Amino acid sequence: MKRSRICLSAACLFAPLIACAQEGDPAATEVWDPEPAVVAPGGAGAAPADAVVLFDGSDFSAWQHADGSDVQWSLADAAMTVVGGTGDIQTRQGFGDVQLHVEWRSPADVVSESQGRGNSGVFLQQRYEVQVLDSYDNRTYANGQAASVYKQYIPLVNASRGSGEWQAYDIIFRAPRFTADGSLDEPAYLTVLHNGVLVQNHVELEGTTVYIGPASYEAHAGRLPISLQDHGNPVSFRNIWVRDLASD
Ligand code: MG
Repeated sequence: MKRSRICLSAACLFAPLIACAQEGDPAATEVWDPEPAVVAPGGAGAAPADAVVLFDGSDFSAWQHADGSDVQWSLADAAMTVVGGTGDIQTRQGFGDVQLHVEWRSPADVVSESQGRGNSGVFLQQRYEVQVLDSYDNRTYANGQAASVYKQYIPLVNASRGSGEWQAYDIIFRAPRFTADGSLDEPAYLTVLHNGVLVQNHVELEGTTVYIGPASYEAHAGRLPISLQDHGNPVSFRNIWVRDLASD
């Protein structure tokens, strides 16, 4: 009780100063329009109301292989799983700036090591990879571990769950802008949360994420598919949704 009386008296002491600094019309700095749209937020496996659901576990209708053929990955228990050798899959729809939610699971049976363990990837616009890898007790080059922007940015921390456990990426992507002559106007940016932990904080991409050599940009369309990588390992995905943030 004694402590709260001290706090109260301190507030009384400072009150005249605060009032002095707050003179004027408070309404002059209030912004009422535009009013943000109401969006039911989802949660616990449910997408926000304004999201495009890319995979809810029931079918591959939002996806295809790069040549336009039907997806050859397996579908069971509300999850899709890479079938090695069938190739990457990509959304039928193209996207620019997005908020993307993806849940993934590396195999419970641990085989191989480094880049060979539970490797896949989430590619924004078919070329900017957020690495998917079983990085639980599995050392590899740091800019190629789970939640790295492949060979460009090391994740701030390793927030990996154990092999065979479901994990989540929440990705905020700002697409690059190109001028009419194809030169870079504004680079791409990525923010990534791995299992709710911030691992990429608005990093500026150097260009297409590549296996060999330095990254660079090539001009491309404003909207392109989101891709999931077939790296030969049976990585699974579920509950994928995207919010379209593009203004075009
Ligand atoms: Mg990969």
